[in-house]
Amino acid sequence: MTDYVAAIDQGTTSTRCMIFNHAGEVVSVHQIEHEQIFPRAGWVEHNAEEIWRNTRQVAAGALASADLTAANIAALGITNQRETTLVWERATGRPVYNAIVWQDTRTDRICEQLGTLGGGAERYRSRTGLPLATYFSGPKVRWILENVEGTRERAERGELLFGNMDTWLLWNMTGGPNGGLHITDVTNASRTMLMDLEHLRWDEDIAAEMGIPMSMLPEIRPSSQIYAQGREGGTMPGVPIAGDLGDQQAATFGQVCLDVGTAKNTYGTGNFLLLNTGTERVMSENGLITTACYKIGDNDVVYALEGSIAVTGSLVQWFRDNLGLIGSAEEIEGLARSVDDNGGAYFVPAFSGLFAPYWRSDARGAVVGLTRYVNKGHLARAVLEATAYQTREVVDAMNADSGVALSELKVDGGMVRNELLMQFQSDILDVPVVRPQVAETTALGAAYAAGLAVGYWSGEADLRANWQEDKRWTPRMEESVRERDYAQWKKAVTRTFDWVA
Ligand code: ADP
Repeated sequence: MTDYVAAIDQGTTSTRCMIFNHAGEVVSVHQIEHEQIFPRAGWVEHNAEEIWRNTRQVAAGALASADLTAANIAALGITNQRETTLVWERATGRPVYNAIVWQDTRTDRICEQLGTLGGGAERYRSRTGLPLATYFSGPKVRWILENVEGTRERAERGELLFGNMDTWLLWNMTGGPNGGLHITDVTNASRTMLMDLEHLRWDEDIAAEMGIPMSMLPEIRPSSQIYAQGREGGTMPGVPIAGDLGDQQAATFGQVCLDVGTAKNTYGTGNFLLLNTGTERVMSENGLITTACYKIGDNDVVYALEGSIAVTGSLVQWFRDNLGLIGSAEEIEGLARSVDDNGGAYFVPAFSGLFAPYWRSDARGAVVGLTRYVNKGHLARAVLEATAYQTREVVDAMNADSGVALSELKVDGGMVRNELLMQFQSDILDVPVVRPQVAETTALGAAYAAGLAVGYWSGEADLRANWQEDKRWTPRMEESVRERDYAQWKKAVTRTFDWVA
């Protein structure tokens, strides 16, 4: 019996496989972390072969721990860390360099230089929906072709392929080392800075400007469609691979934000708030990104406005690993509760510059407001509050762009287990914050896309019926306190500017 749908979630810190039943409940999960490679300040890489090995292992592990085989799985979906960039050999499947991760800032000079050409940064925004920033894939491909010996010539001869992690996994799942499908979906393609967002095709002018041969680029497909069956020796042989979405778009889909005006915020390594804008591409005037949200089969594409924040949960990791003030991420809540407030300290984690709504690669992190009074409990508060304040900035931008005030926020991701943070978030936004029963919405969204393609779920009504509220936080803070503290935060942010020349 094919009773379940599986999803691979290839994230920034780990790869996991989750298996869901028809009610959208998690039946099984297996997860493996991979190495974070930091060759220099500002550089972040992953070993793509390690990630492929982990993908096979987590799929096998998730099946085994629920006593299932591939024959029980109706469809498999993929969701992935977006923008992370890999180039590999068409003939052998061997990467020519590590994957360059979305947080990596090595392309700052390339971006600066691209901004001086023709229409400048504005042209990229109007065609691709994206600000010219180190975050996106195109400039990372260019960096590889400029810096890894021999790759430019080989790319021009058609010997090299580009892909994000979805494309890499699909290639390996469908064809083995030398020759699987070379495809991606509209949501992932919309993060490369190479796709014409209106027509959903590669923009040849931009690819030429970045010096990227068209032969390197994968075919762009819908997010929900039967792409192929898994191959023997790959991941789940014989199972239709039928869903592919970038992780934040998948979470939006998994949170069933299917109506115009609905939004979710995911609290993981970074934070990503997406607002469904329907079939209309809304161009932001306040520092947000315009992105493809999902495309189900032959239906029209649905777009979203997105506020991307680079560092939220990873600041908690940094607090744990680099300062050693806590032993696990969970412990930060207890430490923060040992004091009543932040003691005047504000922590602006501009480790990779600042993303939305500022887009400043010259910014670097700062803790301000320190006095002799401040202790580690206050710092723990400042770490958590940084996530809530950054989210407030994105929500303000979204309200300004859409002309409608957000009325409640659906949340998910690893940090939403932190009750102190969720209450503070509601206080600082002055709207209710709502957590669903299935907080694993990223994997769920990819499973939904795959399950819809094979008819396991018959349509949107099935997905809506599955969404159940777990907990709701409502604002308790006085208006005067909220606005006073938020103004302090805004001031702290300005202290991080102009740090890197
Ligand atoms: P990703 O999918 O981006 O790898 P997850 O959604 O798994 O991330 O969330 C993990 C992040 O959440 C980590 O950065 C971790 O520091 C943070 N985190 C996990 N539990 C807590 C907690 N109880 N309080 C605060 N942060 C937490």
